[in-house]
Amino acid sequence: MLRRNFIHSLGAGLLLGASGRQSLAANLGQAQGKPRVIVVGAGFGGLTVAKYIRITSKQKIEVVLIDPSASFVSAPLSNLIFSGQKNIAQLTFSRERMCKTYGIQLLQDTVIKIDSDKNKILLQSGHEMHFDRLVLSPGISLMFDQFPSITDKKSGAGIVHAMQAGPQTLQLKKQLEAMPDGGVFAITIPVAPYRCPPAPYERACQVGLYLKKFKPKSKILILDANPEITSKSLLFKKTWATHFPQMIEYRNNHTLMDVNLKENELIFEVQDEIKADILNIIPPMRAGLIAIENNLANINKRWCGVHFDSFESSVNPRIHIIGDAIQGGDLMPKSAQVAYGQGKACAEAVTQLLLGQTFDLKPHYNSLCYSILTANTAAHVGTDHEYSPELQSMAVVKGSQEISSKDSIEDYQKALQWAKDIWQDVLT
Ligand SMILES: Cc1cc2nc3c(=O)[nH]c(=O)nc-3n(C[C@H](O)[C@H](O)[C@H](O)COP(=O)(O)OP(=O)(O)OC[C@H]3O[C@@H](n4cnc5c(N)ncnc54)[C@H](O)[C@@H]3O)c2cc1C
Repeated sequence: MLRRNFIHSLGAGLLLGASGRQSLAANLGQAQGKPRVIVVGAGFGGLTVAKYIRITSKQKIEVVLIDPSASFVSAPLSNLIFSGQKNIAQLTFSRERMCKTYGIQLLQDTVIKIDSDKNKILLQSGHEMHFDRLVLSPGISLMFDQFPSITDKKSGAGIVHAMQAGPQTLQLKKQLEAMPDGGVFAITIPVAPYRCPPAPYERACQVGLYLKKFKPKSKILILDANPEITSKSLLFKKTWATHFPQMIEYRNNHTLMDVNLKENELIFEVQDEIKADILNIIPPMRAGLIAIENNLANINKRWCGVHFDSFESSVNPRIHIIGDAIQGGDLMPKSAQVAYGQGKACAEAVTQLLLGQTFDLKPHYNSLCYSILTANTAAHVGTDHEYSPELQSMAVVKGSQEISSKDSIEDYQKALQWAKDIWQDVLT
């Protein structure tokens, strides 16, 4: 939402007798009677928690949702852009409708600092805002500092990862279109955990579909730091052998140490350097920078520890953290489906804690994840997770693990439907 529209949505009474800027600052600083929750990040987790706090609290909690991006771009299905099955417009949505329907103040800005002693955040625009509870769903940041030759450690200029859908996805697609027939597309995968474990392997399939059609002499090299494919291993291997036998080559235990962008060269810990026409480098990841810079990433300085019944940070109980930024439980991938389940559970927790109800929650959610393997088939893996008071953590529900025995048209249709359903819930 544009700042001008945001000011309108604050209500005319607040603007009387003061300049727009002063009254905006006043409103941002002080919650008006109702407890205020600020949600940082309007991706899958943030949109869900913002909507469901309004529902579970019956509008008794004010919610402000902050994100710097003008619109929401779905990372799920973004690999289909490489094969041409989807375009970016089909994955780009406005957040305004949902926010208007549920009375959420949507602010296009970046949170640059959290003052947890004073329960305030500082925005890039210069405003401060008070909160009663803060929810962070900032996603991931990429650890460009792992590569000595990359000079801009913050933006990683020159590295194309496409693990945050949008301009990066389009940049990679452009490179693919410019690559000569007979070229090499190399994709590097960091040691897990990273966002969406099957996404890089799914990408190889989608890039493969494009190359088969337009540049059939080309090759895809998957250079994985892990000892084995981290998700749906047999299904990917079978798909590559059946549909891309001369095209996709998988190599495990390839830990990327540096990159020479001038020479288009990848430098590994053990193996020889590899040159390729396209370097799709997926760097190691950690929680979004706002969590890192405010000392909330207490697990290996990368991921945020939380109490899984409330999603309160194990560092600061007034701050809740959900989504990819947290250290998940056993068999819990960093995925949109998980962020969505956590968003709903966190909304209940925040409502109970703020409205003084008895706190008694045992979250339960699932981690269903589809991968689109060809132009019309997909496969899935899924697990149910529930809160275990004994472990004080999430545990896998016994017998709930399921994985497709083969790829199928039915799973392809279900994958597209899954995306439609989750977009529908978080965006309307
Ligand atoms: C190629 C690809 C395919 C995928 N496919 C699937 C799939 O099929 N199924 C599935 O379940 N998952 C999939 N995922 C994973 C899924 O996209 C993520 O797990 C999910 O987006 C995590 O949600 P989140 O809310 O934690 O983070 P995000 O959705 O990334 O949202 C984080 C938001 O926080 C904002 N933000 C960050 N810092 C600040 C700040 N300081 N101030 C304000 N805002 C801030 C960002 O702008 C962003 O909008 C895929 C991912 C990729 C890359």
